[in-house]
Amino acid sequence: MKYRFPRGMRISTISEREQFYRNEFDLEKVKSWLSWREIQKTVFAVIVGRKTNFYLKEFEDVKDKALIIDEHRGLEEVLEYILHYLPEGVYYDRNLYSDPRLCENCPKDCWKCRNFLGQELAFDLDPENVDCPYHGSLEEKAARKDTISFCMLEFKRVRRNTAKLYKELEKDYENLRIVFSGRGFHIHVLDERAMKLSKKEREEIAEAFEDFGIDEWVTSGEMRLIRLPFSLNALVSRICIPLSFEDLRTFDPRKLAKPSFLLSTSS
Ligand SMILES: [Zn+2]
Ligand SMILES: [Zn+2]
Repeated sequence: MKYRFPRGMRISTISEREQFYRNEFDLEKVKSWLSWREIQKTVFAVIVGRKTNFYLKEFEDVKDKALIIDEHRGLEEVLEYILHYLPEGVYYDRNLYSDPRLCENCPKDCWKCRNFLGQELAFDLDPENVDCPYHGSLEEKAARKDTISFCMLEFKRVRRNTAKLYKELEKDYENLRIVFSGRGFHIHVLDERAMKLSKKEREEIAEAFEDFGIDEWVTSGEMRLIRLPFSLNALVSRICIPLSFEDLRTFDPRKLAKPSFLLSTSS
């Protein structure tokens, strides 16, 4: 399937991914963004080619899987994995573990595991979740089997929803971060109180905010992985970057967050 994106956004080639992760990916920025976590105890993951269908042939069998990186001594080693896989996306696990290696044999979720210390609360706002006069509702997009494409109208609706949700969340929480994900936005809640919420409370929060077009399974905690800030979203060739509330209001993905491989050409 050929995806349709706002002007200038497109899938990154394997060599562009390599160029980005060798020369541009800023580990210091990642470190400082993740500074409230212990990086050694943070689990990372890559997806090689699930949505782009562009991947190194040797990873054919695992191209759709989230490949978990739980044995590393820091971001430098995580980068070695990234350069090995040259994935379409890089993620981290929002769970906090006393020691992630103890969870190797845990069933899918660790909510009742002794090793589990909490989970960062997050909201994922994506363009497929909003209605578009041209491209239809989520159901219509799903029926066409294209929930990946999006237009600027959908993007602007997502941007507005993100701003509104941020203002709502500000009433309850103090430490909020906004991140451009490549297609939409994430809001991370870093308040200690939010880390300790139960699965049940998260489900209630997800339901309470469903009208903002969030992916509920991210907020409810079922999906623990979230895109790593400063990594490349190779589906659209944009860098996932943190934004202030002011930056969010006018953020234009056609012009901003471009990796240098797009700046040197007219694409
Ligand atoms: Zn566990
Ligand atoms: Zn549309």
